[in-house]
Amino acid sequence: MTEHMDGCLFCKIAKKEIPAKLVYEDDWCVAFSDIRPQAPIHLLVVPRQHVTDLADLAESNLSLITQLVGAAHKVAQKMSLLEDGYRLVINSGKNGGQTVFHLHLHVLGGRKMTWPPG
Ligand code: 5GP
Ligand code: ZN
Repeated sequence: MTEHMDGCLFCKIAKKEIPAKLVYEDDWCVAFSDIRPQAPIHLLVVPRQHVTDLADLAESNLSLITQLVGAAHKVAQKMSLLEDGYRLVINSGKNGGQTVFHLHLHVLGGRKMTWPPG
């Protein structure tokens, strides 16, 4: 984990160098709307510090996940998702389907999710 990474899209959004529809922020993370929503509500919870993926998280600052899940809960509450529920997704690495290599939690809600995922 590094403080921030030059050229990283989500570092730039977290530092507000690139605009995004922010719905929540605290000392550890920012949350904003996904540019290509896969559900009526699709937000991304992104740590302010540059963490590449789950392996990087586990090896460098595993306790950060507590802040991220707590923030996702607050975001879900703000978007009225608590009653019907929501899904958290972390795509990690190539086979995990990760496309932006700055760890993030997808918060998906507003419709019934299917299983298994594609
Ligand atoms: P991943 O595939 O890495 O799990 O998720 C990356 C997510 O970031 C995708 O859902 C994609 O739509 C979203 N995304 C990519 N570029 C941007 C951007 O510039 N702004 C926002 N708000 N979301 C983005
Ligand atoms: Zn980054």
